[in-house]
Amino acid sequence: MNIIEMEAKYTSGVYAKQPIAFVRGQGATLWDEEGNEYIDCSSGHGVANLGHAHPKVAAAIAEQAGKLITLFETFPNDQRAALMEKLTSLTPGLERVFFCNSGTESVEAAIKFARLSTGRSGIVAAMRGFHGRTLGSLSATWNKKYREPFLPLVPDFQHVSYNNIEALDKAVSDATAAVILEPVQGEGGVYPADPAYLEAARRICSSRGALLIMDEVQSGFGRTGRLFAYQRYGITPDLLCCAKSLAGGVPMGAVLIGEQVKNLVPGTHGSTFGGNPLACAAALAALSVIEEEDLAAQAEEKGAYLMQKLKAIPCSNIREVRGLGLMIGIEMKQKVTPYLKALQEKHIIALNAGLTVIRLLPPLVITYEQLDQVAASLTEVLLNENLAAQQSTAD
Ligand SMILES: *Cc1c(COP(=O)(O)O)cnc(C)c1O
Repeated sequence: MNIIEMEAKYTSGVYAKQPIAFVRGQGATLWDEEGNEYIDCSSGHGVANLGHAHPKVAAAIAEQAGKLITLFETFPNDQRAALMEKLTSLTPGLERVFFCNSGTESVEAAIKFARLSTGRSGIVAAMRGFHGRTLGSLSATWNKKYREPFLPLVPDFQHVSYNNIEALDKAVSDATAAVILEPVQGEGGVYPADPAYLEAARRICSSRGALLIMDEVQSGFGRTGRLFAYQRYGITPDLLCCAKSLAGGVPMGAVLIGEQVKNLVPGTHGSTFGGNPLACAAALAALSVIEEEDLAAQAEEKGAYLMQKLKAIPCSNIREVRGLGLMIGIEMKQKVTPYLKALQEKHIIALNAGLTVIRLLPPLVITYEQLDQVAASLTEVLLNENLAAQQSTAD
């Protein structure tokens, strides 16, 4: 059996497996087992912002692995202390931090902290929002396909239309513990928030004693042209959820915590692996690479470069090209699966976001030459009338 057959045999079944086995990566390039080269425009759903196998992250992991891998957070540690200081210095107004191991765990923690802090239970989330797949964060996630098999979920969650200030204003009351929002909706179709919307969300939460949770699990760490997308909007959330790219590819999550958040006392929450020295060392290395290579500025410039090329594609099947930095969505008038497959045949790995949006989340270190290749291949694929026809008959 080869790699692909083995995984098909032993997989749980919850993933739709792709027909390529990757064994190595560097920057925005991935190689399959035969040495064929691909351009990665997925970054493992936004994890590999620094590119694959960044040498500084790899070196930090190797060094820390020989020193101390695990240590429960009740015992302080040099790597963790340094990471706490570094992370909070990058997010003025958020001065404490809770570590965990994934995005969904960071959302679970934020929801628990909001309930603990306010003594209220209501959580207001947005339609099209995605916050993870464990039962608490799934309660904040919108997509019926993810939720319905697992009902009943956690009570007192409601969803309001995104970018609609009036709907948010109506939904938030003195029973609301928190509003949770992505500053750019990722899985839901790559929809950036209107500046006025996040400003209003901040104002509405503050005036009613509710906390504002920003879920930057996907949009964080330079992706949108700032370290965090909320920093473009001139607001500060009370709780900031991070994961994906935080530790350069090593599993890690974090919640950054503002001064309005109260009652976090010993025993109310915790995580066995949270804040382990190995992940902390990787995150410290990742953050210094993000700064040294100014990856946020790179995302801003490269995002504008790619976006302008995509907007110039003369394809009547494109409904809209939108995004922030290197978080880009191309909304089509039809399902995108055949386009993604055709891109894969041209050795470009892209993502969908829902049924009709092609999503591009390349590593922020992707080269301009690679961006040109991506734009050229996308142009060819989107203008291929056979694919468009194949699609409309398939519907
Ligand atoms: C991916 C994602 C999550 C969940 O992260 P996991 O590490 O897969 O649990 C939560 N929120 C957003 C916005 C995400 O994109």
